[in-house]
Parts: sequence; structure tokens; C-alpha cells
Amino acid sequence: MNILLIAGHGGTPYDPGACGCGYTEAVETRRMATDVAPMLRAYGFHVTMYDQKNDAYKVLRNGGSLPLSGMGYVIELHLNAAANDPQGNGKTTGVEVLVHTDEKGITVEQAICRRIAALGFQNRGIKRKNSLQVMNTVHRAGISHALIETCFIDDADDMKLYKAKFYDIARAIADGVAEGFGKTVKKEDTEVVEKKKVVIDGAIFDCSCIMKNDENYIRMRDLEQAAFTVTYDEKVDMPEIIVPQTRAQVYPWDDEVQQAMDTVQAAAGLEDKTVVYLLKYEYGEELLKKLAKAVQGNA
Ligand SMILES: [Zn+2]
Repeated sequence: MNILLIAGHGGTPYDPGACGCGYTEAVETRRMATDVAPMLRAYGFHVTMYDQKNDAYKVLRNGGSLPLSGMGYVIELHLNAAANDPQGNGKTTGVEVLVHTDEKGITVEQAICRRIAALGFQNRGIKRKNSLQVMNTVHRAGISHALIETCFIDDADDMKLYKAKFYDIARAIADGVAEGFGKTVKKEDTEVVEKKKVVIDGAIFDCSCIMKNDENYIRMRDLEQAAFTVTYDEKVDMPEIIVPQTRAQVYPWDDEVQQAMDTVQAAAGLEDKTVVYLLKYEYGEELLKKLAKAVQGNA
């Protein structure tokens, strides 16, 4: 799904948005959008970052348009104001998410709100609006829009938490969107292992996998389900994976096996490497002896 990510305010002439506690809204919305985008992409969303040089509101006011073609969801980031608690009173004013009055489903927005609130912000919940220009424009295009008011820029308690939890807030937004759209939310821990169905050699197995930096990792031991031999070779100090029914090494073989190899090779006109390949089969010695016997019997 395509998501348009809009950082509120800014543009030319510059609209800083709200200011408080040493922060400027237009600066913070851009920082947050920049952090959220790659996290959403890691969930498989296709994210379009709205041009951070622009202010979407002003663009629309001046008769412009938004790049809504193909979008499935629009997120607009803001910071709230009017708490007027520059000293801090020990409690946050909190997070709220605005959606259009006629918006039907709000599971995504509720998930975002809940996850941000879980970091310590009061949960002000979902608020419905029909007077916001960007939201109305997106809504008219038939696309769901969420305006996230992360916390209050003029509440010292909010901004103290905001500073300490900036990265976690970005994660909460990305995880909330992922959760709301039915994706499995990943824990930050890189050790997190997911059970995935993997087809190995034509059959399906449950494997423990880690997806990291767009690379899939599968637990080596899980290959044993598919009859691979997974061992650790102390002599060479390396893990070893052996394909089913074959052997990684060809061991010294006796004269009887050598004679069988010669017989089969001569009768069938095989190359040396083909005979060695047959020997690498798990029961290669016995196979070659039986083939040699069959060849001689026909002679
Ligand atoms: Zn704002």
C-alpha cells in the first residue's frame, strides 16, 4: 500500500507552526517524518515523503494539489499547542489523532494513539474534524487521512518525554500503522524470530526466520526437517550443511568399490567426476557394487 507522509507547516513563506519549550513544530514534524518513513518501508509499505520544502496546507490554499494518485493512506504529522504549561506540572497533556468526521474505520488511528500513549503520554483519543483543508482534500479523494498531534509543544512534561522518547514515538507511529493494517508488528529486538512456512526442496516446513535489513535469515537447524544434515565440524571449526542423501566428503574406499567403479565407468562410458558423484551418494559404495554386478551379469 502507498502511504503519503506529510510533515505539517513550513514552506514559503515559512510557517513555523506552534513554538514552545525550545521547539518549533515545523522542524519537529520533519524530523519525525524522516524517522517514521524507513520504519514504514520496513513493513513493506511504499512511502512517499511529501516534499519537506512545502507546506501542504499553503499549497492547497494557493490552488495547488497533493500527490494523492495511487495513495491508500495519508499521515500528517503535527504537534499540539495551547496546554500552556511551560514549567511542567508533572503530567502530560498528551496525544490525539484527528480523522475526518465521516471517516469510517479508526482502528489504525486507535493503534497509533494507544502506542504513543503507552510511552507515557495521556491518551486524548480520536477526534473528528471537518474543517481542516488538507484532511478534507484527502477525504474528498476517497483516501483515509490521519493527523497525528503527537503531544503538546507548550507543555514541558510532554516535551521532556518527547525528547527522551523521540525514536520510540516514531516506532509507535510505524507500529500502529502496521498493526492497524493487519501486519505483524516487529519487536525492535534483532533476536526476534518469526515462524514462517518455507519450501525446501519441494516440501513445506515451519522454520524460524529473522527478517533484517530486507534479508531473510533461516535457522540452520531447521534444515534438518528437510533431511539436511546440520553439524559442526570441530576439525575445520565450521558449521556443515549436508544435502540429503549425499556426503560432503568422499572417504577412502576399498578395492572392491574401486573395481565396481572401474566396471561401471567402462561399461557406461562415464567421466571420472560422474563416478565420484555416484560415490558421494549416501549409499554410493553399495550402489556402485550393485551396478557393477548388474553390468557384469549382462555381459
Ligand atoms: Zn500544526
